[in-house]
Amino acid sequence: MSKIILTGDRPTGRLHVGHYVGSLRRRVELQNSGEFDKIFIMIADAQALTDNAENPEKVRQNIIEVALDYLSCGLDPEKSTLLIQSQIPELTELTFYYMNLVTVSRLQRNPTVKSEIQMRNFEASIPVGFFTYPISQAADITAFKATTVPVGEDQLPMLEQTKEIVRKFNSVYGDTLVEPDILLPDNKACLRLPGTDGKAKMSKSLNNCIYLSDPEEEVRKKVMSMFTDPNHLQVSDPGQVEGNPVFIYLDAFCKDDMFAEYLPEYSCLQELKDHYTRGGLGDVKVKKFLNNVLQEQLSPIRTSRKEWEQRIPDIYEILHKGSMEAEEVAARTLDDVKKSMKINYFDDHALIAEQADRYKAE
Ligand code: ATP
Ligand code: MG
Repeated sequence: MSKIILTGDRPTGRLHVGHYVGSLRRRVELQNSGEFDKIFIMIADAQALTDNAENPEKVRQNIIEVALDYLSCGLDPEKSTLLIQSQIPELTELTFYYMNLVTVSRLQRNPTVKSEIQMRNFEASIPVGFFTYPISQAADITAFKATTVPVGEDQLPMLEQTKEIVRKFNSVYGDTLVEPDILLPDNKACLRLPGTDGKAKMSKSLNNCIYLSDPEEEVRKKVMSMFTDPNHLQVSDPGQVEGNPVFIYLDAFCKDDMFAEYLPEYSCLQELKDHYTRGGLGDVKVKKFLNNVLQEQLSPIRTSRKEWEQRIPDIYEILHKGSMEAEEVAARTLDDVKKSMKINYFDDHALIAEQADRYKAE
């Protein structure tokens, strides 16, 4: 069986370092591994509109921002197909058929959707489109017959929902759809990177992000004002490493060979953590180190982005081409789906002949 990747992001803002460690960095590695037959990277504008219906301009403007982030991180249009969700109407059609296979109470149990509803104050009036976006995500994944979906931890319930839809579809209509596997980051710190404010998740909607496109000075300022252990008041105080976002970011970004250049008194992250836990190590020193670690990784991305920013029409061309290629694949899946559901009347010569015969006999 072919190995196929589908993943993507909502164009609700520029991408941040949480996206990078949670999904983007892995995608680029997978792309360059040569192990996959096909890679689809989707800018999920239709999904973004489910909670931004009154603000289509925000979605429209952020498509290019997400595409710029993709390209500057090393997603290569020669190796990966970059597409825009709304340009593939087959996805909407698949969603409509899958809706019949999912109950309202099943959707209500989705913990990610539950917390997103709370975050957006949607409790009293949830848009139907938003409520059902896990079904549309199942359509996205299955349309491309994806076998592997590299995403952050918050996507686990979506993948579970997708698998259920696939099983249900295949059992009712016959083997048609492919069950995907989720690929989570190996590194625990990357599963759900916290915000600079210490909140559980760095998120475009929470204003607690370090963006991949932030200028050097902006990154430095954000790092220097990051939330740390609130009880670590004096340098001499023992500090807490667990749950401390500065150390979580180091877990996600720091490689031991970076110490030689930026903090040669230590040889590895564990030594730094031990010192902090014992007391005698100030937050400022750790933050300066984190800043250097981040800058080393963000600087090439920033440089590449500057170059791509001068090629906006080319990027739209890439997205257009990718969307057309993706549509062909999705159309083939939709054909299979309709055939399995037996709603392919005009191609169903057996049906027409059988009915013609039946009436002739009467
Ligand atoms: P929004 O607030 O609009 O939902 P978001 O920041 O949650 O935006 P998405 O576009 O919903 O971003 O998520 C894109 C991908 O990035 C998903 O695979 C998600 O799991 C991953 N991701 C998002 N935020 C983080 C994070 N803080 N840590 C790890 N992965 C993340
Ligand atoms: Mg999200």
